[in-house]
Amino acid sequence: MTDIAANVQFVLQTIRDAALQAGRDPQSVKLVGVTKYVEAERVREAILAGIHICGENRLQEAQTKMETIGKCPGVAWHFIGRLQRRKLKSIVGQFAVIHSVDSLEQAKEIHRRAEELQQPQSILLQVNVGNEATKGGFSPSQLLEVLPVMGKFSHANVCGLMAIPPRREEPEAMRPYFRRLKTLADDAQALNISGIELRELSMGMSNDYAVAIQEGATMVRIGSALFGDRPL
Ligand SMILES: *Cc1c(COP(=O)(O)O)cnc(C)c1O
Repeated sequence: MTDIAANVQFVLQTIRDAALQAGRDPQSVKLVGVTKYVEAERVREAILAGIHICGENRLQEAQTKMETIGKCPGVAWHFIGRLQRRKLKSIVGQFAVIHSVDSLEQAKEIHRRAEELQQPQSILLQVNVGNEATKGGFSPSQLLEVLPVMGKFSHANVCGLMAIPPRREEPEAMRPYFRRLKTLADDAQALNISGIELRELSMGMSNDYAVAIQEGATMVRIGSALFGDRPL
């Protein structure tokens, strides 16, 4: 077994264990393999080892890799990076899910583009759970304001929330942020906003995904635990 295959097995097992421990169905947690900076050959290895979703945060890099790897049946690509206005058009329709929508303008633009393509686009709304000035994302109150408007966008389907909390060494220190996102999703869902169904919670990375799963994550975004440390 290659390193990557062993890592994929380990992470999948950790996901199963964390879900079962929390009394959740392991199938309710999807592994997003974060393939940024990872060359196509190693991404292919990860796919063969059981990765069904690849997460990329740069359009150009993702496109090159998608072309090299080619269409793999059963493999979806998700966009998890910051959205630049001029690239938004090209992102829509190329990714099964866009995790990182953080303004009403972006959602509207995605809706427009997806309508042109006649292909509804699934999106998640990023929430700034740490209230950090340097990070994108809606504040909880902004989120509740925009949801009713977004519910009317027929071709941008809001299907959940995403967060990148402040980094902490200790996974346990991340728990309050994950809990905040889960509570926010539950509160928003309880409002029964027309056109809005918040099923997905994209939270948890290599260092803390077990805790995120205990707190309700349905998508964990894992890079270094699969592919090793990135250059940077
Ligand atoms: C890079 C990245 C990840 C993965 O981080 P790791 O700590 O390597 O697992 C997850 N989410 C986003 C948005 C990222 O940019």
